[in-house]
Amino acid sequence: MKLSFPFDPVERAEESERLVVRDEKRMYYRFRPAPYYGGIATADAIGCSFLCAYCWNYYRNLNPLRFGKFYSAQEVSSNLLKIARKKFFHLFRITGSEPILGEISFKHLIKVIKNIFQEKPKSIFILETNGFALGYRKDLIKNLKLKNIWIRISLKGIDEDSFELITGAKKEFFLYPIMALKECEKQGIKAWPAVMKDLFSDVEIGRLKRLLHEYSIKAELELEFLEKYPFVLENMEKRNIKRKK
Ligand code: SF4
Repeated sequence: MKLSFPFDPVERAEESERLVVRDEKRMYYRFRPAPYYGGIATADAIGCSFLCAYCWNYYRNLNPLRFGKFYSAQEVSSNLLKIARKKFFHLFRITGSEPILGEISFKHLIKVIKNIFQEKPKSIFILETNGFALGYRKDLIKNLKLKNIWIRISLKGIDEDSFELITGAKKEFFLYPIMALKECEKQGIKAWPAVMKDLFSDVEIGRLKRLLHEYSIKAELELEFLEKYPFVLENMEKRNIKRKK
């Protein structure tokens, strides 16, 4: 995919969806048990509306067609359920990508989640998202009012400038993930924000917390930490993003 920075994430989401979703099948490249959250059945998908400098799936999200295979929602849920049964997990997620690019990928996601809940009603699906589509299309959020969906919204910047530098997306879209959080809270859906601690000082994290407070976000901010792969550090250097510790 050709990109010039900063890009419009709406256009990038549409283009990505055209590439990574076909006939309601989505492109994935791996299914695995992962140690996070104490053990979680994980599907690694491809395609994102952003292109974060620190993304561990950067090159797959940049050039989706070179990687991965298309899987139906039924195939995805049964792969994840097999892993969960084998490992005695009750948590599920899709990661490495943005699960919600537009309506078709959203429909695919909801089918995956419903299939899992049908087979294993006590399981929890952790929806890891950059929150952009949910803020831009708040009308989609009501479909996530399913028991046992937890939504983790990764805020990429603490303000417009850091958002643009880190995601590659235009700064005017900075507030959409925060709007998504606000709407989830309004609709009684469990959701919380996360931010990459390594890139911000304590003062900057404090500013972000105040901003969330101004928007009446009650959920606690999770601090995540960088996976320091050599290509990640190289991509960050190319964008002149410094670690704060
Ligand atoms: S939002 Fe997540 S998946 Fe998308 S580019 Fe950023 S880190 Fe990667």
